[in-house]
Amino acid sequence: MVIGGFRVAPFYQSPITIHPAPLLPMTLIDGKAIAARINEENRAAIAELAARGHTPGLAVVLVGADPASQAYVRSKDKTCRELGMFSVKHELPAETTQADLIALVQQLNADPAIHGILVQSPPPKHIDERAVVETIDPRKDVDGFHPVNVGKLALGDADAFVPCTPLGCQRLLIEAGIETKGANVVVLGRSMIVGKPLALLLMNKGRGGDATVTVAHSRTRDLAAVCREADILIAAIGQPEFVKADFVKEGAVVIDVGINRVAAPESPKGSKLVGDVAFAEVAPKCRAITPVPGGVGPMTIAMLMGNTIASCRRWSA
Ligand code: NAP
Repeated sequence: MVIGGFRVAPFYQSPITIHPAPLLPMTLIDGKAIAARINEENRAAIAELAARGHTPGLAVVLVGADPASQAYVRSKDKTCRELGMFSVKHELPAETTQADLIALVQQLNADPAIHGILVQSPPPKHIDERAVVETIDPRKDVDGFHPVNVGKLALGDADAFVPCTPLGCQRLLIEAGIETKGANVVVLGRSMIVGKPLALLLMNKGRGGDATVTVAHSRTRDLAAVCREADILIAAIGQPEFVKADFVKEGAVVIDVGINRVAAPESPKGSKLVGDVAFAEVAPKCRAITPVPGGVGPMTIAMLMGNTIASCRRWSA
């Protein structure tokens, strides 16, 4: 496989990594393949629920016509349907009022066919996103953004719904056989969607946790030096190819959460997706790294399906 001009051994296709001479001693963590396998597990879980008369149901609400959000919503809906879940898509005009949006969420809270509710972020400026999230029944909050679930995650309560992207990062590390216990992890970014919940997950006790976590952000002094301490560096800042080779310790594991569209005159579309990591210069220093696209991205949707299945199990118990 050739990524960023490098020949690499895709982790998931060759779990016993035998590197022929021309390959670099670096493992590409193939999130697409791992997510596909997890979705097969999800399919089996859905079939098992169906045999007992239950179908996991997910409602996705989108306000406005942001093209990236529309693409995410389409992709969530498509995966739901492919796996045999019940999926409802509410695409509302940008001028939808706060009151109407809250009324829809309340209606979904009361709908027994719906086990997961997700309001696509970011909504238009006139909507108070926090008030909307707080209206979602925490037992249907499969995005894990409700304060009840944030609190449960902080407490290390296994019942928490955990935000899907951080959960996907942790699962990638587990599936790739990367030990977090005792590892120095630097999470670059402190958003409520990625950085902060990811730091909590990795520092919590148990499998995929027990790490020594540092959270870095735009006010961190000497960012490169902080990042160089990391055995595992996770970049979630939304800055195209910001993490350069001098941020990375030789032999580190790098997880790139960033999804940034940049101009690419050489591409027929005129643009391409890149991560927060300068892959071509960072990859040769790494023990393992995720590509963009095809790394964390596919895991997010697989985790959303998993959270909705878990919710359905709880409601039907
Ligand atoms: P966000 O809400 O904008 O947060 C960005 C974080 O990065 C903030 O904590 C910010 O620091 C920090 N930051 C920004 N510029 C920085 C710099 N130059 N140096 C150090 N820290 C800096 O972004 P987000 O929602 O967490 O998303 C981050 C990236 O992940 C984006 O590219 C997004 O598209 C991607 N993403 C991917 C998925 C997926 O499924 N793969 C899901 C969600 C997000 P301050 O707090 O100090 O401002």
